[in-house]
Amino acid sequence: MKRIYLDHAATTPARPEAVAAMLPLLTEGGYNPSSIHAEGRAARAALDDARALVARNLGVQPRAVIFTGGGSESIALALFGAARAAAPGRRHAVTSVVEHHAVLHAMEQLEDDGWTVTRLPVGASGTVDPAAFAAALRPDTALASIMLANNELGSISPIAELAALTKRAGAVFHTDAVQGPALLDVDATALGVDLLSISGHKFYGPKGVGALVVRGGVPLVPLIVGGGQENGLRAGTENVAGIAGLAVALDLARAERAALRARLGELRDRLENGIRAAVPGALINAAGAPRLANLCSVAFADLDASALLIRLDLEGISASAGSACAAGSLEPSHVVAALGVPEPYRTGVIRFSLGRASTSGEIERVLAALPQIVAEVRGTAAVV
Ligand code: PLP
Repeated sequence: MKRIYLDHAATTPARPEAVAAMLPLLTEGGYNPSSIHAEGRAARAALDDARALVARNLGVQPRAVIFTGGGSESIALALFGAARAAAPGRRHAVTSVVEHHAVLHAMEQLEDDGWTVTRLPVGASGTVDPAAFAAALRPDTALASIMLANNELGSISPIAELAALTKRAGAVFHTDAVQGPALLDVDATALGVDLLSISGHKFYGPKGVGALVVRGGVPLVPLIVGGGQENGLRAGTENVAGIAGLAVALDLARAERAALRARLGELRDRLENGIRAAVPGALINAAGAPRLANLCSVAFADLDASALLIRLDLEGISASAGSACAAGSLEPSHVVAALGVPEPYRTGVIRFSLGRASTSGEIERVLAALPQIVAEVRGTAAVV
């Protein structure tokens, strides 16, 4: 039977249009955009076109788009780059406890360098409260980083409000928008952010390529130096094919997202209502928060999420426990811990994330299989 992939928050397969845009730039058009000859100029034109398309989609000027080797690198450039460029008297940063490890571990490194970091808690919504955020800003705050949409819960924080507060405090605001573009309009100007990170493989583009939006000339010190590419902020011969694939995928995501959001929202609601009905006591995390339409984080009491995932996998259903990087460990993820999920539920959190290929038939198959699998994993299934 056909497998059911419900792990689109971990990654999405590259769509055919993105692959079609990439192929000629890997083969007959695979040249160095910095070369003066005709082949190089053609590669430069492809790069310029991709940058213009990405910029249009994110509401900024082309020169504000810096291509990177993925989401984590974009985040590293934003945080370390802004930290290194900060005024000497400002060595305080604000973030939240539910950020991706790319942000959290960067913040730890800043602490190792003598920075002070305030990590804001979140409530059951999984989002950052603007009043608590405002209270955390200090005269020496240089930098704040809050994610647009959480990768484990789908919860969406009020980024425009947080960015405005940060601006008033004279600090730089970064948002990890990696989970955004597949389903949300991501306009860096409308959001008022200084720095914004995206990653191609979360919206049906290629892996290993991302971008950092740098608005309004925010000063950054580059992490990778060499040839001066990307406006001097990210040296290295550009991944022109990957960048072109990312640009096409982003443009198509924008064109399709309203319809996709509506369709996946209905499927997700069906999944959640079905789980609540079929597995009494199951909790939907962050259910009351503004959330990504494709994501369902569900907590089951008294079971081990990895055993459940293995049984689902045998049934042909791919889901994940919290974030992909936390999978395989029995520890509740930092996001689950931060939410205050009740004790018997903490090790039983799994995430279903739907995508373009998801169908109602797939959701019905999951709902048909789940009650028996949960009972088996809990060791309470009737022997027949
Ligand atoms: N931020 C969030 C919210 C993510 O979900 C991910 C992907 O797992 C990343 C950052 C890292 O992106 P990448 O895998 O492109 O480095």
